Amino acid sequence: MTSEQTFPIQSTPRVLDIVSLYPNDMNIYGDSGNVLTIMRRAQLYGYQPVLHAYNQGDPWPEQVDMIIGGGGQDKGQSAIQDDLYMRAPQLQALAQDGVPMLMICGLYQLFGDYFETATGERIQGIGILGVHTTGQDTRMIGNVVEHSDEFGDIVGYENHSGQTVLHAGVEPLGRVDHDGMGNNGQDHTEGARLHNVIGTYMHGSLLPKNPRIADFLIGQAARRRCGEFRPLSDANGKRELERLNTLAEQARHVAMK
Ligand code: GLN
Repeated sequence: MTSEQTFPIQSTPRVLDIVSLYPNDMNIYGDSGNVLTIMRRAQLYGYQPVLHAYNQGDPWPEQVDMIIGGGGQDKGQSAIQDDLYMRAPQLQALAQDGVPMLMICGLYQLFGDYFETATGERIQGIGILGVHTTGQDTRMIGNVVEHSDEFGDIVGYENHSGQTVLHAGVEPLGRVDHDGMGNNGQDHTEGARLHNVIGTYMHGSLLPKNPRIADFLIGQAARRRCGEFRPLSDANGKRELERLNTLAEQARHVAMK
């Protein structure tokens, strides 16, 4: 062995299959930023992330290591509800099996029991998270800072009409302590947390601004798929990760002011 051969040859493949759920209909306020962040950070940790865009009527990917879903207009939520309902047993089984999932806004609502829109239409959810949502005329819009014991301060941006209520015993993702409205503008909770599923109103700047959450999702995916989370970053990768973390800090600072 020469001194250059510092990395052991990998006997286990480092592929991670990432599913972007309904990107055609549920993808708003920069939600693809979350997908891009996962893909880039996973690569920089020496994994080979493969992105599967799953839209209505598509075949379900054979291997699923992480699922990311975005927000949408009420009509987008209405459009996907039948397909989502059809996929509910698979999604419920994957959630119970510990697959990390990030569901933003419109899909967060539909991972709960239902979303009743401001015009009275009831869109059925798939009940993975114990929450339900009711629409109102005033929208909740703006930067949000929330606190979570697991992830520290979480910084993001919300824009929704639905007011979400957590059922008894359901953990929020965090607690809003100033400005932001969170789940419903009243009880200071934001998002919901179960198994490795995160539901939240924070949109596409969530993972770029909160690398801890991105790394939690990648870490859980790697542990489940490969047995452990073992970053193998080369010098360029380490530099790029540091750069991304610095940019995140700067962006968080602006939103927290
Ligand atoms: N249509 C839903 C609402 O207004 C979800 C909005 C969103 O995903 N941004 O509450």
